[in-house]
Amino acid sequence: MLARPSTTEAPTMPVETSVNAGSLLDDLLSSPHDPVLVLDASGRLIAFNQGAGAIFDLEAQRGQPSSAVISLAPVLDVLNQPAGSQAVWDGPDGRSFLVLQSPTPSGGALVTLRDVSDWKQLGLRLADLMHIVSHDLRTPLTAIKSYADMLIESYFGEMSRAQQTALEKLTLSIYGMVNLVDNLQAADRFDPRKGLYKTEREPIDVNNTAQSVLKDLQLPAEIQNIALELDADPNLPILRADQLMLEQALTNLVENALKYSPEGTKVVVRIAPDGDAVLFSVSDQGRGIAPEDQTRIFERGVRIEQSGQKRVRGSGLGLFVVQSVAQRHGGRVWVESVLDQGSTFFLRIPVRGEPQSG
Ligand code: ADP
Repeated sequence: MLARPSTTEAPTMPVETSVNAGSLLDDLLSSPHDPVLVLDASGRLIAFNQGAGAIFDLEAQRGQPSSAVISLAPVLDVLNQPAGSQAVWDGPDGRSFLVLQSPTPSGGALVTLRDVSDWKQLGLRLADLMHIVSHDLRTPLTAIKSYADMLIESYFGEMSRAQQTALEKLTLSIYGMVNLVDNLQAADRFDPRKGLYKTEREPIDVNNTAQSVLKDLQLPAEIQNIALELDADPNLPILRADQLMLEQALTNLVENALKYSPEGTKVVVRIAPDGDAVLFSVSDQGRGIAPEDQTRIFERGVRIEQSGQKRVRGSGLGLFVVQSVAQRHGGRVWVESVLDQGSTFFLRIPVRGEPQSG
């Protein structure tokens, strides 16, 4: 069945009486370009343009129920997907089409296929570029980070107070850059062809994973004079999850807790079994998040900066990656927060969850 046209669609413009509507339709349908199909209220194929005729081999099929036209089946499938899903159809000739449907006044539907092959290619090239750049940046950054760690631990001798302060600032920036590149690499695992993150599941010792994440962030916590603690239940189940992505999600939550908290506070990571899942939570005593922002912070690129607060650098990618990790493991992430008092982010990952799409 063809999806019923939405009643919230923009109203169709009335056809001016001085214009011959029949010849306009003829012009539209004789266009050899983007494919156009017209279906009546019962879903029968009543008209199509040259573009559609050529791609779907429709000449002998006029008047047939669209559901009986085999070559149209993939396009009708795209139209029947839930609202909000990507209505892109990959045609047989290597071109990709955005499938759009609008209601006709007689209760039928006008189906237009817009050729988006160039945009898709551009998206794939950008993804390739991001892949190369993030990989090539990671190696020198790892070396810079190691030298900064050695310097700060006085491996090359004692430093003056001023040198130490400068080095601490430098180190925080380096950790921020490393996490940005890691998030770009995590985003790079997003497969634009399928609209999904690639995940590889393996059995994970959750406690060990959390300990290694916290060990890596101990230095920035010390520099900011924030106590970083782990409180893990001794009876945690083995989780089947993507090790790298889980580490990245935890790193992002802890990094944020450190970034958005003042000196002298505490960040606690708790891990406990929760029914058929493992529940991670990261609590801070930082600036908090206003109720109206608590959902949108998980969108890609969304950053909240409030006037009067210390400016914190960021990319708006961290929580998007956390949410993607949750979705790919069939889990969920949410926040409870009070402005100026602190936030707790929860990440619930089913021990053997099935991923949701998206
Ligand atoms: P970034 O930190 O790079 O801005 P994120 O996606 O990690 O990007 O976070 C989005 C926004 O959510 C941040 O800009 C910040 O306003 C808010 N946020 C995230 N974590 C916290 C936290 N622990 N405390 C307060 N605000 C937070």
